[in-house]
This record gives sequence, C-alpha cells and structure tokens, in this order.
Amino acid sequence: ATDFGIEKALQQLGVQDMNPGTSTGSENFGSGEPIASYSPVDAQLIGKVTSTTEEEYGMVMESATKAFRQWRMVPAPQRGEIVRQFGNKLRELKEPLGKLVSYEMGKSYQEGLGEVQEMIDICDFAVGLSRQLHGLTMHSERPGHRMYEQYHPLGVVGIISAFNFPVAVWAWNTALVWVCGDVCVWKPSEKTPLCGVACQNIIAEVLKENKLPEGISCLINGDYRVGEMMTHDKRIPLVSATGSIRMGKIVAQAVAARLGKSLLELGGNNAIIVTPDADIKMTVIGAVFGAVGTAGQRCTSTRRLIIHESIYEKVKNALVDAYQQLRIGNPLDENNHVGPLIDTDAVKMYEAALEKVKKEGGNIVVEGGVLTGEGYESGCYVKPAIAEAENSFEIVQEETFAPILYLLKYSGSVENAIELQNGVVQGLSSAIMTNNLREAEKFLSVAGSDCGIANVNIGTSGAEIGGAFGGEKETGGGRESGSDAWKIYMRRQTNTINYTTELPLAQGIKFDL
Ligand code: NAD
Repeated sequence: ATDFGIEKALQQLGVQDMNPGTSTGSENFGSGEPIASYSPVDAQLIGKVTSTTEEEYGMVMESATKAFRQWRMVPAPQRGEIVRQFGNKLRELKEPLGKLVSYEMGKSYQEGLGEVQEMIDICDFAVGLSRQLHGLTMHSERPGHRMYEQYHPLGVVGIISAFNFPVAVWAWNTALVWVCGDVCVWKPSEKTPLCGVACQNIIAEVLKENKLPEGISCLINGDYRVGEMMTHDKRIPLVSATGSIRMGKIVAQAVAARLGKSLLELGGNNAIIVTPDADIKMTVIGAVFGAVGTAGQRCTSTRRLIIHESIYEKVKNALVDAYQQLRIGNPLDENNHVGPLIDTDAVKMYEAALEKVKKEGGNIVVEGGVLTGEGYESGCYVKPAIAEAENSFEIVQEETFAPILYLLKYSGSVENAIELQNGVVQGLSSAIMTNNLREAEKFLSVAGSDCGIANVNIGTSGAEIGGAFGGEKETGGGRESGSDAWKIYMRRQTNTINYTTELPLAQGIKFDL
C-alpha cells in the first residue's frame, strides 16, 4: 500500500487507524461497534471507524438543531464565503483525498481526482448561488398590494450516500445545503467510512477557523440501522438518499410516513442507442468508458447498447477489439484502465449475473471471470464482459453493479430503439450516437428518452455539475447539483403585503361588518 503514497495521504487527511465515527465539527466521539475498512485494491486494512450509537445520534441532532438557529441568521453570501474556503481546502488536499477515494473505493486514481474536482466545482457553483437564491415577484389582483415569494432554509438535512461516489455526492448536497442556510448530518456508506472521516476533518477545520458553532456539518456512521435513525426522525425535514432502488423504496416510505421530503438518487439501467448514422469510433470510446469505467460501478454506467442491425456486427467487432486492450489491475497505477469491484459480495453478484444471462439464452461475446494471482489477491478484480441479450431478459432489466455490457439489436426506425431504451423501470441516463438530426431530435423530444439525462454523441456516464442531476421512474425523481436543484433544500413562502388603509379580500369577496 505504501508504494502509492497511501500512508502519507492518510496522514494529510487526519485519518487514523481508529477513528471516532460521530462528529459535530471539532467534537468527535465514538463508542459504537467499529467498522473495519479494507481496501478492495489489496485487501489491506486501511483503518476503523466507530459506528454511531443512539445516544450519540441524539447528541448530534441536538447540536445540529442548535447550530441551525444560528447559521440561518448568517447572510447567504457570507455562508457562501465559508463554502469558498472549503473549496480552497479541497484544492490543497485534492491529491491525498483523490488517493484515498481510489484506495478505499477502488476507482482509478484519475477518477478519484475527478471526484474531488467535482467537489471543488460544486463549491464554486454554490458560492455564486449564495447571491442568487431568488424568488419571483407577482402582480397582486388587489390594489395597493404587493406579492412576492422568498426562500427560507429548511433545517437539518440528512444525507445518506452510496459507496461508489464516496465524497462527491456529499459535496453535491452540502455545498448547496450550507449556502441555503441548512445544516447537515451525513451517513456515508459503511463500505467507505474513511472517506467520510477525511471530508469531515476538512470542513471541521474551516468551521473552526471561522469560529462557527458545532453542528453545521455532522457525521454519523453505520449501516442501514443508523440510516433509519434519520429517516424516522421528525426533526429532519429532508432526507437526501443515494443508493439502490431497494434502499430508496424503504427510505421513501419511512420519510413519507411522517410527511417529510426525500430526494432520491437511485439505480440506473443506462443505454446508448447506436444508429446507422453513428460515428463508430466515438461510439466505441463512449461505450467502453461507460461500461468499464469505475469497473461498471457508476449509477450512469452504460449497461445496454441498442445497435441498429445494419451496423451491429461492425460495432460488436470493434468493441471486442477494444476490450482486448483493457488493462485490469491496481487502480492507483495509472497504466491500468479497470480496477477492482468494491468487495467479494459484488464479485458474487457479477458472477451470478453472467450465469443468469447465459441461462436466459444470452450469448457471451467477451468472456468474464474473476482474476487470480499476483496483484489480484483481494479477489475483487473481474474481467469486463459483453453479452448479446434481449431487453426482455430478467437480468437485463436489472442493474448489476459490475462491468457487464449487454448488446441489443434493433431494426427499422429509431422509434424502435427508443422503445427498448425506455423499456426498463429505471430512468437515469441515456444517449444516442448519430449524425442524423432527425434521429437526435426525436430522441430528445417528448416521445423520446424518458430519462433524467439524455445525451447526443456523448456516452451515458460522467455528468457536469452545472446541470441538475438525477433520474425518473424507479431512479427516484430527485435532482441534485446544478441548475435550480437548490430549491429542494429550501422552503418557499408566498408573501402578500397590503400598504393601503382598506382590507379588500381576494376573489372580490365582500365581508362587511
Ligand atoms: P445501497 O442502497 O446498498 O446503500 C446506499 C446507502 O443507503 C448506504 O449508506 C446504506 O447504509 C444506506 N441504507 C441502506 N438501506 C437503508 C435503509 N433502509 N434506511 C436508511 N439507509 C439505508 O447502495 P450502494 O451499494 O452503496 O450503491 C450502489 C447503488 O447506488 C447503485 O444502485 C447505484 O446506481 C446507486 N447510485 C445512484 C446514484 C444517483 O445519483 N442516481 C449515484 C450513486 C449511486
């Protein structure tokens, strides 16, 4: 592990062998059962984090609730200044944090750095936003009246995140949460708890330097049981949850039962449509990166390629060629394209999916398999696979979080391809590769893709922070990050002011006394 400077990175980030997993800022505590974090890269123990007990959770909520009363009074542009300082700290610590992301989660170092860059970008976005939390002004129907709307902060925002973006998803939420005047309690994935500790250390320093109260940024750790403390907690008006559809259905029901709000960012089953007018070279690059990048563990990973029959063989052969070039190994070594899966349970799911696609009648075009031997001791490295399949296969309808790409054939017009693309329960990311304007516009039209993200001549994975990010149907409907995604973190209030000496009622109603 030391070969790639991990020890130094951990030191720079203040990550210890044993870390208190509960924090309200500079106050860190931990008495719960420790969670051990092993790297999928080399199976080494990186460190431990204590999980949060019910009593500790109570202390966190008390601190967060108190901090909110103070934080909401700080003018939004001044809150933006804190986020600016946080972004600068991230710039200083980009390399160590990117390295930890790569080592604890298993994505390539380049992708780890990219994830930290996204955090920096969303901070910059939020700083500008802190002066633009606009409402509208309307014309009142009553004389001498003024009507407008304003946005106020909500309170304590709960954040539950997945293992695959162990730092960026938190920042997408928190950068906006803080400028909006809310405070947050974050439960990172129990598979990447050290990334959570590192992020909390960074923001804690900023808050301390600015003499801000405990509780603006809080951390809790543990599995779903700790997550449930938040979903059932009436003091949390909004729970932002990123993860599987299974988790989202449980979280949504728990939050809705107390009429809270939830922001759900769940699984995808993303497809690229390849039409006869596609640029094949671009298609192959987009599809391969989309399918094998982060070892197929992105919510936006390309899982299905819907290829027109006239170019099917050509695309298939080009893909098979490209897959032969892939180098699988330690993701910290920049010569490798594909790193490990998160753990051996994920490997089992990958193997089961390959078995299932064969059983359902699929044809394996690029053979998968688990790698063994030197460099692969963790047992988490797998070969990216390609299978020819049908959209109706049960396994194709599911999201398998691994590098398995399904090839589907379509004939006739692009409408047939769009029907296949939309014919799944998930609705996150979609793409079309074509130089034909009519096909592209049809794909983007009301009768086109039903996903939250629809791209032309770009793959499905890798979004910019400037747009609102999220998906439809069982992907959960939430939007995070850019555009006007900030509105979910605030409550809207409509205000009407009467500056006359009369009291006219709305809709012309007369009420004479
Ligand atoms: P997961 O659902 O297993 O866990 C996600 C988080 O939810 C974890 O922190 C977990 O502890 C918590 N959790 C699980 N059950 C809970 C419950 N009942 N109550 C409260 N919290 C609970 O997901 P994962 O394996 O970590 O991540 C992979 C999944 O995340 C994939 O489906 C992927 O597509 C999805 N994802 C979606 C997006 C998006 O923006 N749409 C982004 C990243 C990942």
